Amino acid sequence: MVQKQIKGLDLDELTLLCKGNNFSAFRARQLYHWMYRHGVSDVKQMDNLPSDMSTCMSNQYQFKTLEIENIQHSTSEDTKKILFKTHDEKFIESVSMIDKNLHTVCISSQVGCNVDCKFCATGLMGFSRNLSCGEIIDQIIEIRGLREEPITNVVYMGMGEPFLNYNEVIKSAKILHDPHGMNLGRNRITISTSGILPKIKQYISEGQPYKLAISLNATTDETRTGIIPINKKWTIEMIMKELAKYPSDKKNRIMLEYVLLKGVNDTMQDAERLASYANTLRCKVNVIPFNDIGNEFSRPDEQTINRFIGVLHKNQRHYQTLVRWSKGVDIDAACGQLSTARHDAP
Ligand code: SAH
Ligand code: SF4
Repeated sequence: MVQKQIKGLDLDELTLLCKGNNFSAFRARQLYHWMYRHGVSDVKQMDNLPSDMSTCMSNQYQFKTLEIENIQHSTSEDTKKILFKTHDEKFIESVSMIDKNLHTVCISSQVGCNVDCKFCATGLMGFSRNLSCGEIIDQIIEIRGLREEPITNVVYMGMGEPFLNYNEVIKSAKILHDPHGMNLGRNRITISTSGILPKIKQYISEGQPYKLAISLNATTDETRTGIIPINKKWTIEMIMKELAKYPSDKKNRIMLEYVLLKGVNDTMQDAERLASYANTLRCKVNVIPFNDIGNEFSRPDEQTINRFIGVLHKNQRHYQTLVRWSKGVDIDAACGQLSTARHDAP
């Protein structure tokens, strides 16, 4: 019998599934707890299910969507990069970073990406397919099993464009946030987008509670279109107009991400323009010095980075400035460095 995937189903879907197999709705809640709260993928360990249900479930359904293929450890920090294989032999990567009392997991939402940002290794590998909600959640469940430290933060900043896989991403975030699921606070879940305008609109109008990060990465349309081609359709102004509708509060501010690329977007005028955009919102500006991916781009020197940050600090009224010195550079686990192109090669 071909087994169906069960991981990723929400409580309503599990309830239907249980009813269809003549088990009560109460059993669905138990399954939900085992799968998401406890991260158990082996039905035999779900020891409060009746044995007929246990047999039925393990015969008919698959509870695990990913296999760990490889783990790399950074030598300089407590960062691990995990390579996963899917059932159809695709490869994705996730990163687990421990810093003081924070354990942040950076997860993928697609196999590859077709947004084609010129500075990003995932963009260079092309697009294969969307990940299911179960595959998104299993990255976290598998990492939870690898580390003793509980996961405190999840960022959708791995491979792929989360807003081009909107439904599965939002469904997974809901399970992460649900007190009966993984019980992570809404401010501990961040979804990052390159600027898919219709989905930003939808996200804001639905009042999704998770943190939103926008990869702005340039301050003129000419430069932005040159490095993020979708900017031709959805310009900086269109994005900023939409972001103005976001209901920021003290705990939940939009994050504007800005990858600093030498000679491309690193002038003091860029810093001034970035500051004036940021001052129109209550937000955080996150400057990410470029991480090498072996193409034509490079990171500005330290003096330029510091001057850029200095201008941001000087102009700061409604925003905060943060610099993200990415972790795991030695194992290609830093922002923009995730790629499984070498594994997908025939
Ligand atoms: N697709 C989403 C999320 C994944 S990328 C997005 O683009 O927002 C996560 C962050 O890494 C983005 O802000 C992106 O601009 C940044 N990034 C991509 N390539 C990078 C690189 N080589 N160096 C530093 N940051 C990079
Ligand atoms: Fe895709 Fe984000 Fe990389 Fe752009 S930066 S190619 S949207 S993963």
